[in-house]
Amino acid sequence: MQPETNSVPAVETADLKRIYKVGSMEVAALRGIDLCIPAGGFVALKGRSGSGKTTLLNCVGGLDRPTSGTVRIFGEEIARMSDRQRTRWRSRHIGFIFQSFGLLPTLSAYENVELMLRISGARIRERKERAVYCLNLVGLTKWMHHRPYELSGGQQQRVAIARALANKPRLMLADEPTGELDSTTAREVLTLFRHVIEHEHVTILMSSHDQLVDEYVDRVVSLRDGQVIS
Ligand code: ADP
Ligand code: MG
Repeated sequence: MQPETNSVPAVETADLKRIYKVGSMEVAALRGIDLCIPAGGFVALKGRSGSGKTTLLNCVGGLDRPTSGTVRIFGEEIARMSDRQRTRWRSRHIGFIFQSFGLLPTLSAYENVELMLRISGARIRERKERAVYCLNLVGLTKWMHHRPYELSGGQQQRVAIARALANKPRLMLADEPTGELDSTTAREVLTLFRHVIEHEHVTILMSSHDQLVDEYVDRVVSLRDGQVIS
């Protein structure tokens, strides 16, 4: 890892607020979040449904715009970017993982991963090498040419993790990645996240409402009604 990567936090938010306008009503999803996550960390956002986990992940990843406050990712303030810059920055530096995997059903595991590299403009040889490498890292070498419906939920989430890693992101954001998995499979995925942090030097910020994750992460940040309570 680069020395400067170590000193700059992966994620830093200051007084982050997100207020949704629904008709004449205002819903304060985030009410001033101050968060600092060091590079290489594995952090869980916990809280009940509606506490603001998804909104926070989306603001951190540049999928949603905060109403006020700042988000810095490795020292860069993402609100300062234009939409186009932000989209490019996101595909280069952030890997997203979702609860329901979000794989393209007609493509094989390999093709799902390779597509990300195609979109980012990698050359054919690099695409092939990186896709094979990522699928191997998540333990799916043997299943590489299978389609999502031929894979278990845990295997599908592994494909999604390989896909999120394809472009060598520095930060992975995972929204309830174990939400649809049984506890044994959830443990396997959490162990895999640790493995990925070691081998790919990423930082992982994950949301969950599962007690199980506490054993695996470096830190738990608890949210209630859009505020950090721990
Ligand atoms: P969590 O992921 O912890 O379940 P969310 O971030 O999805 O929480 O939601 C936080 C709050 O913001 C909830 O009260 C939710 O109803 C509200 N909310 C989320 N997204 C929207 C939206 N697009 N429009 C209006 N309200 C929203
Ligand atoms: Mg959510």
